[in-house]
Amino acid sequence: MSQPSKIWLSSPHMGGNELDFINEAFDNNWIAPLGPNVNGFESDLKTYLKTDKQVAALSSGTAAIHLALVQLGVTHGDEVICQSFTFCGSINPIFYQGAKPILVDSEPQTWNICPNALEEAITSRIKKGHKPKAIIAVHLYGMPYQVDEVHAIAKQYDIPIVEDAAEALGSTYKKQNCGTFGEFAALSFNGNKIITTSGGGALVSKNQATKDKTVYFATQARDSAAHYEHTEIGYNYRMSNIVAGIGRGQMQVLDKHVSLRRKMHQFYKDIFKKIEVINLLEEQNDEVFSNHWLSAITIHKKAHFTREDLRLFLLEDNIESRPLWKPMHLQPVFKKCPYYGGTVAEDLFNRGLCLPSGSNLSDDEKSRIETKLKSFLKQHGHI
Ligand SMILES: *Cc1c(COP(=O)(O)O)cnc(C)c1O
Repeated sequence: MSQPSKIWLSSPHMGGNELDFINEAFDNNWIAPLGPNVNGFESDLKTYLKTDKQVAALSSGTAAIHLALVQLGVTHGDEVICQSFTFCGSINPIFYQGAKPILVDSEPQTWNICPNALEEAITSRIKKGHKPKAIIAVHLYGMPYQVDEVHAIAKQYDIPIVEDAAEALGSTYKKQNCGTFGEFAALSFNGNKIITTSGGGALVSKNQATKDKTVYFATQARDSAAHYEHTEIGYNYRMSNIVAGIGRGQMQVLDKHVSLRRKMHQFYKDIFKKIEVINLLEEQNDEVFSNHWLSAITIHKKAHFTREDLRLFLLEDNIESRPLWKPMHLQPVFKKCPYYGGTVAEDLFNRGLCLPSGSNLSDDEKSRIETKLKSFLKQHGHI
């Protein structure tokens, strides 16, 4: 028997008008990393975020975080705090700057940086004579971190926050968009994000001057002169006008994607409603609104199966699911980094799984997922 078609965790979902923007760029020969699509995409993002801040389109979310650290003056020997439970793109730029990550555990409500562990990390590092230069806080899986609590601590110790909103475009906290809280905020348009440009990112910053500075660093730090004059090290991080064309088309369907991802979340909520051994990551109160980029579950310790059992069972029917992010302090490459907190992140990794969450899953695919999940739960005596 042939394999059933693959159901992806999260796959690109084009809206339909992306090619029009790309064709326009070809027609007008705007193929360079500047042009009307770049300006248009930045302005679409700014409008969407309802902010006075400015947006610079870049080649990736990782590049955005890197340029935030560059502009915060993070350099060799500095320390930067980062949520341990995240994707490596949050933390790698700390190393690019020759600085040292200080990793912090999550809290169990939002799965994001734990305010208590954060404060412990800050005071401990200050005691050792290294006041952290920045804090990278992440809205994982689209779920806003505890913005008020985390920002109050950052303010108390006067440490800027780099908000990693790579997974949270379309999420809000107290009606304010994720991506507008930090001194800098990074967005990502990588292939599996809620909207994609095939690869890309953006950095949100305070004003036109900080945006200009971002663009300057993203285009090899060229000083104003007819020839190429350089007084600082730059990067080749600017988004191209072709890629930005995809972004403009995707912005037209962003709200639709958010509502479809939220529907996927509701789909799982209905399936697991009476299943005590499975917990879905959910909004804890009506102050937060998650784009539910990925629907993620944890398996209770008393369940008669593990997350690996479930993952492999789904794979039998060619349904992709994925363990939650493996915390950075448990990664071989980062294991020497200081770590503050307990075992919340580690426990999430051991017991958690992301389920197919794409905005483009068909009814047929959803019914395959539902059938497979129910037969698994039945097999293990949970229904
Ligand atoms: C995707 C992602 C990034 C990096 O974005 P890229 O565009 O892939 O470089 C950073 N942080 C988090 C949490 C992400 O999910």
